[in-house]
Amino acid sequence: MITVKCIKCKNQYSLNDIVWKCNCGGLLDIDFVPEFTKEKIKSRKPTMWRYREALPILSDGNIVTFNEGFTPIIEVKFNDIPVLIKQEHLFQTGSYKDRGASILVSKIKELGIQRVVEDSSGNAGCAIAAYCAAVGILCDIYVPQNTSINKLAQLEYYGANVKRIPGTREEVAKAALKAAENLYYASHRWNTFFLHGTKTFAFEVCEQLGWTAPNAIILPVGNGTLLLGAHIGFKELFNSGIISELPKLIGIQAANCSPLVEAFFDDMDHVPAENEQPLAFTSTIAEGIAIVEPIRGSQILNAIRETHGTMLSVQEQDIKSALLEMGKLGFYIEPTAAATIAGINKYLALANPDHSENIVSVFTGHGLKNTEKMIKALND
Ligand SMILES: *Cc1c(COP(=O)(O)O)cnc(C)c1O
Ligand SMILES: [Zn+2]
Repeated sequence: MITVKCIKCKNQYSLNDIVWKCNCGGLLDIDFVPEFTKEKIKSRKPTMWRYREALPILSDGNIVTFNEGFTPIIEVKFNDIPVLIKQEHLFQTGSYKDRGASILVSKIKELGIQRVVEDSSGNAGCAIAAYCAAVGILCDIYVPQNTSINKLAQLEYYGANVKRIPGTREEVAKAALKAAENLYYASHRWNTFFLHGTKTFAFEVCEQLGWTAPNAIILPVGNGTLLLGAHIGFKELFNSGIISELPKLIGIQAANCSPLVEAFFDDMDHVPAENEQPLAFTSTIAEGIAIVEPIRGSQILNAIRETHGTMLSVQEQDIKSALLEMGKLGFYIEPTAAATIAGINKYLALANPDHSENIVSVFTGHGLKNTEKMIKALND
């Protein structure tokens, strides 16, 4: 039986309960043993839904999909060292968030919910809005006032009810939480179903590498929706006996906003509240991962330590250089995605002296997502 369980008080809910957090306020996770039958998987279309028996949606009739997933992996050389990059900027809405949105909106459909609310710096909102549009579910998307005009246009085209909120990202979240008192919160940060979509990243990496796991995976971390999903996915593969070792998870943050890196190296098991953090953070070109209080912070720190991974922070100048460097190779990615690429450079320089590791990383978002910032980075 699949249940939904509070990570704090262990209270359980059924898959049919309309809940996104526990009555005690705790985060929910799905308690679930997936199945992987390689022959079945191989016989299906190349989409993330080929892992059907590992996805917690009860009825096939509720699946909301654009045939997303199975994004190509390409080898890119960094100073002659090959790294495999999964091209997650090639999704329907231009970022990997479609993985989470496909599962979460399927679940929302399954629950019979007609209207939802979500907040995001842009990409998660775009993904939720597109999948809601596909099945006629209304959505209110809260975004910061300064969200890129490209993402705003995208949201409007999908028919979302866009709410631009002045102030910080945290203030946007607060406004959405208030709205979530009356509407279902389709939150990529809170909602456990979202992570059971992003976990398919791990399944695909594994299958595309001939059902093996790489040694290390380099991923961005703001709220950790890709990193935590990857962790769930690789653990499910490990527990099913498909892989024999978990890859090291290497989490990248922009130095200008790196509360998780601080907590990691201070040996903390959680990220302190903003007013208790030792550093005051400033803005970064990697707007999509500028998260001061990641609500799943403890889980992120756990995941990285459990896999013997590490965290790295990258400077603004290095993010811009990585962005330009990728463009010269023919890859047009958004600035937030370039933070991860700067992280690859740093990881290769610092942490892997013999370069014998098999490394996978990711382009998380498309450059067409933020034209203004792309032009600014050219001229800076
Ligand atoms: C969402 C996003 C990230 C990182 O996501 P978190 O869930 O905050 O860790 C990275 N890059 C892009 C382009 C994104 O949209
Ligand atoms: Zn609880």
